[in-house]
Amino acid sequence: MAASDPFWRRKTLGAMTRAEWESLCDGCGRCCLHKLRDEETEALLWTHVGCRLLDGATGRCTDYANRKSRVPDCVKLTPAKVAAIDWLPPTCAYRLLAEGRDLPWWHPLVSGDPETVHQAGVSIRGRIVAERDAGALEDHVVAWPGRVPKAAKPIPPVRRGSDTEL
Ligand code: SF4
Repeated sequence: MAASDPFWRRKTLGAMTRAEWESLCDGCGRCCLHKLRDEETEALLWTHVGCRLLDGATGRCTDYANRKSRVPDCVKLTPAKVAAIDWLPPTCAYRLLAEGRDLPWWHPLVSGDPETVHQAGVSIRGRIVAERDAGALEDHVVAWPGRVPKAAKPIPPVRRGSDTEL
């Protein structure tokens, strides 16, 4: 590990500053889609219906600072929650780092360009249905939020000798 390595390779999730932690979010918006659980199998089912605070053009929350009071079941990510939940998409930077992977080329911290997350087909831009228009969530189950788009591959492998810990 070189001192010149970027912070996400040098630090565990738990050791990051607040600003570093926040900068890991690539703005894909996938985690802000409504999800369902199959009652029998407990399997996670994604929908393409966005939270009412999700901006379908930017992939960002429109009231990030107050999201928890506006949407009480919004989950504020922490290292412990990243380890515990099973619904972060396979492209999510928090999940990738928790798995001991590097960030991919299209992550804004790597590319230096917030547009690359959209160019790689990772974001929800232009693909979601607004909560107010959706009706029954069961009618909007889709698979893509749980998959890695072709243009976003390959996802970096788990680093050998990775000592990444939460
Ligand atoms: S899935 Fe991960 S990277 Fe994408 S918006 Fe949610 S927290 Fe950010």
